Amino acid sequence: MVASENTMTQRKLFVTTALPYANGKFHIGHIMEYIQADIWVRFQRMRGHMVHFVGADDAHGAPIMIAAEKAGKTPQQFVGEIAAGRQQYLDGFHVRFDNWHSTDSAENTQLAQGIYKDLKAAGLIATRTIEQFYDPVKGMFLPDRYIKGECPTCHAKDQYGDSCEVCSAVYAPTDLIEPYSTLTGAKPEIRSSEHFFFQLSNPEVVDFLKAWTQSPGRLQPEMAKKASEWFEAGMADWDISRESPYFGIEIPDAPGKYFYVWLDAPVGYLASLKNHFDKGQARDHWHPASRTAASFDEFVADPQVEQVHFIGKDIVYFHTLFWPAMLQFSGRKTPAQVNVHGFITVSGEKMSKSRGTGIDPLKYLSLGMNPEWLRYYIAAKLNGRVEDVDFNPDDFVARVNADLVGKFVNIASRAAKFIPGGQLVANNAATLQPAKLVDSVAALYEAREYGKALREIMAYADEVNLRFDGAAPWKLAKEGKALEAAAIGSECVEHFKVLAACLKPVLPALAAQAEAFLQCAPLDWASAASPLGAGHVVGSYQHLMQRVDAKLLDALFEPPAEAVPAAATPAAPEAPALPGGEAMADTITIDDFSKIDLRIAQIVACEAVEGSTKLLRLTLDVGEGRTRTVFSGIASAYQPQDLVGKLTVMVANLAPRRMKFGVSEGMVLAASHGDEKAQPGIYVLNPWPGAQPGMRVR
Ligand SMILES: [Zn+2]
Repeated sequence: MVASENTMTQRKLFVTTALPYANGKFHIGHIMEYIQADIWVRFQRMRGHMVHFVGADDAHGAPIMIAAEKAGKTPQQFVGEIAAGRQQYLDGFHVRFDNWHSTDSAENTQLAQGIYKDLKAAGLIATRTIEQFYDPVKGMFLPDRYIKGECPTCHAKDQYGDSCEVCSAVYAPTDLIEPYSTLTGAKPEIRSSEHFFFQLSNPEVVDFLKAWTQSPGRLQPEMAKKASEWFEAGMADWDISRESPYFGIEIPDAPGKYFYVWLDAPVGYLASLKNHFDKGQARDHWHPASRTAASFDEFVADPQVEQVHFIGKDIVYFHTLFWPAMLQFSGRKTPAQVNVHGFITVSGEKMSKSRGTGIDPLKYLSLGMNPEWLRYYIAAKLNGRVEDVDFNPDDFVARVNADLVGKFVNIASRAAKFIPGGQLVANNAATLQPAKLVDSVAALYEAREYGKALREIMAYADEVNLRFDGAAPWKLAKEGKALEAAAIGSECVEHFKVLAACLKPVLPALAAQAEAFLQCAPLDWASAASPLGAGHVVGSYQHLMQRVDAKLLDALFEPPAEAVPAAATPAAPEAPALPGGEAMADTITIDDFSKIDLRIAQIVACEAVEGSTKLLRLTLDVGEGRTRTVFSGIASAYQPQDLVGKLTVMVANLAPRRMKFGVSEGMVLAASHGDEKAQPGIYVLNPWPGAQPGMRVR
């Protein structure tokens, strides 16, 4: 219990994850971040510390305003539907936020306006007239991403307003030749308007940020280094206002002007915390015995409170410069730690939503895959540095089955058999020095070195299994040495308890099952290494965790299914008729098209793929003097023998993609309706007679 834990000062922690933009479902990258933070929070709670762990949807900005309009909804309806789909992911992966809120809320409006007023009173808000593109048809100023035109450097057509995808030149949207609005196609006009700037270039602000970012323990070393590079490049003032129409928070005393979404987004951390306090839930939530502040204002003013953010490497600038400066110069407390993680890749490939690689978290759950397998696997790959994490299906199966089930779960199932009536007897559990493990693992969790923590835990489990095998209790039992057999069984149960406590932040559901088997109080850190003791009676062993069936991974990596669980996507009725069931993609240049190497391919062999109802394995001749293997999701439409000998068209320069069944070296072209449920059917492309394998399609 916390109240009796006098040896350690209770920390007061306010922990957040980055606020997801409310224009789409969670992807595996979100889930990874939530798992990382959730493990840390659960660990802190097991230590007896007080934690408020909150999240929220980032709801404002032009992209949401425009997407909502396209869907025929108000922005509030649009983000409300996205928000309604969040909980199933969080519950599904055992991510337990104390509160989930939105930046489009009364709390956030009040807090963001308050911070702005304080910054203004501190003399750090400047106004400047700037020239910007304006869409006269739409009647709005255009964000850079909604302007395209000819690159002023290489003259490639249809380049975005901030940089050229062909020659990588960076420029202002006003530099584009023949610019047009991507919203209406209209030629934008240059209009001037008054904008508000947060004066980050003020020497006092720069000095503060230099000291803040370099203060030990605040940022990871590589991030502190990055920050000093930014200072060398020089700090520019930050444009924090946008003109109406804009979905956001109005700037006080400036009618028709709104805060830029990145101004109010991080304020959403505080808004969600305030909402949590105001609901009366922030008290007594986890630690009935702990005394927590009665109000949000008291809590955020408490100098002992540590504010800890978990974020991805793409939003570091906002969290290590803008956000601490906003807090500091509005007279508020700044974060204690900003913990940055890398991206998640799948079999070494970057995720791409459009190509459907990656892992759909809801599909993972709907296949009945245990969420704690993923928690364990992700934890095993995470460390305290800003490194990408790779999800590899074979590695996933091996780690879960060999380590988690084979080493840890196995201990309880083997040991329980030799303890008559479940009553533990005197044993030598102290030999392995469990307290040493518990202390070492604690330091590693604290430093977010989860991979190292799990390696130490599994090394201990190896020792336990060796001791069990060495003692051979099955032989002892046969020789009539039941008490000796019970002693090694009891010892292993004690070790199992230590290991279950150490794994509990990562595997909360498995730990709860272990507690039920052990018939012990909820495992916490203070008692993690203490033995249950001779005489303690454990329950009957029930199987704790299934092994991963590799077939589940096959199913997970099947090409994206048409059916997405209904609750996850708000049914967005697209406005006009859609050709073939989906909107035309954005315009590309001939140069873009020429990057795709399409070739005539002959299907020299074709077979069903065992374990997959969707895929066929094609062997293709593209005139290279060798054949290629391509997996294609066309099994519902073709019998393998019907395709053999036929010509088709393939994407020949697609990066090879590792699938569960092997590597796919390209993609066969086929047509289908955008809504495969409404209009089923897949049609493989077939060239006019006379085409030869290897000919390029242009
Ligand atoms: Zn260019």
